[in-house]
Amino acid sequence: MKYINEEKINNLLADASKVDCRKLDLILAKARSLQRLSLNESAVLLSVNDPEYIQKIFNTANFVKDTIYGRRVVLFAPLYISNLCVNSCLYCGFKTDNINLKRKALATSEITQQIQWLLRRGHKRILAVCGEAAPAGQSNIDYYIQAVKTIYAAVIGKHRIKRVNVNCAPLSVSDFKKLKASGIGTFQIFQETYHDQTYRQMHLSGPKSDPDNRISAPDRAFAAGIDDIGIGALYGLYDWRFETLGLLSHIEHLEEEFKVGPHTISVPRIEPAEGSELSFNPPYRISDEDFKKVVAVLRLSVPYTGIIMSTRESATMRDALLNLGVSQVSAESSTSPGGYSDNREASAGSQFSLGDNRTIEEVVASLIAHDYIPSFCAACYRMERTGDAFMQLAKPGTIKGKCSMNALVTLKEYLDDFASAKVKASGYKMIERYFNQLDNVDQKMLKLFFNHVDAGIRDEYV
Ligand code: SAM
Ligand code: SF4
Repeated sequence: MKYINEEKINNLLADASKVDCRKLDLILAKARSLQRLSLNESAVLLSVNDPEYIQKIFNTANFVKDTIYGRRVVLFAPLYISNLCVNSCLYCGFKTDNINLKRKALATSEITQQIQWLLRRGHKRILAVCGEAAPAGQSNIDYYIQAVKTIYAAVIGKHRIKRVNVNCAPLSVSDFKKLKASGIGTFQIFQETYHDQTYRQMHLSGPKSDPDNRISAPDRAFAAGIDDIGIGALYGLYDWRFETLGLLSHIEHLEEEFKVGPHTISVPRIEPAEGSELSFNPPYRISDEDFKKVVAVLRLSVPYTGIIMSTRESATMRDALLNLGVSQVSAESSTSPGGYSDNREASAGSQFSLGDNRTIEEVVASLIAHDYIPSFCAACYRMERTGDAFMQLAKPGTIKGKCSMNALVTLKEYLDDFASAKVKASGYKMIERYFNQLDNVDQKMLKLFFNHVDAGIRDEYV
């Protein structure tokens, strides 16, 4: 597979377990100073088995996360626009040979209904997801673009979606240009596995069976001017240490080629999917403890890259991972096209089952209870603070003050407009406490924004 040197990864992993405590302490000290780690150093941390050192890795990840991102956690919801697919990924419920799946591609009016349902519950950020195929008579790219435009156009009162990210099949440079022009935020694509042989075994037919076309999709997106990219690996297909070093090698390639790495990383674990035997018994299932290590080591290896956690994980696991470096979480997700409805039975077949079925309000309440500020902010994207411009602000820590301020303003908007009395009470208390506590925030401006929210003005940001 392009960009991935398997021999190098295997050698690094073989050598990593021989490392002594002194070397480990040096690596953790380097991570604590917010420096990006080398592949070799990441391999060493992934190979730690001593519980005392694992705890040290966790503590350092928590420190790095708090130092760079502060206490805010961004919320989003996926919108599955279609489950039509020409590929046959062995782990996925949407695979083309799953003949029992109820197939559906949402029409424009249905997308609007779905978004209105999400807007009524307070959502502001969407990840549009789909299989690799479009309804008859339409090209994939035209279908995606129409969906993105429809999502942005939907309104409920003063509320509309602020940012649409897209997780779809690889495109050509010219199609990526069209996708960018439709106003997307992040283009997200997971390599699934960085192990060549496993990749070929898992993707037997369809365009996705070419690993090089997939791994080079972010290059084409960058070439088309999309500088906000999300990548990921699907844990459970191959050895988790190898996959993590594969992911980091992919990031190294992007940094070398484009001077900026991905904006976000995702680390989905395989969940049971009706119609996919493999998903019920993944060949390399990763334990909860090792999964936590993956998240913590990623936080230390690429401290300025966001880490996304979906509702594939249970509520308890998601809460634990927040301390280890996760910066974005989805809430109240459905993985079936048409799934956002008070009658979920009526929707089409789902991609996989979820580990966390809490409502957005329950997720907000839980974040507040764990002292994390739920954020509905999309300011960076709207102010064009993406790609290298974002990294220049993120590295000296400048972004943290803006993020905290936008998080508190968007939280107040959410509480005023959508929350129950109980969540309002805990949320307002949190806002008051952080208003007095945050030292890198312009209090005068924040107060002004709060007054504006009280006066009914929405969607102000810095
Ligand atoms: N069809 C496009 C593709 O494959 O890139 C985009 C959408 S696909 C629905 C999004 C992601 O879902 C895949 O990249 C894969 O990592 C993940 N996925 C597929 N089956 C899964 C399963 N059983 N459990 C968890 N995640 C799964
Ligand atoms: Fe289709 Fe994506 Fe599922 Fe593969 S992972 S079957 S490409 S929807």
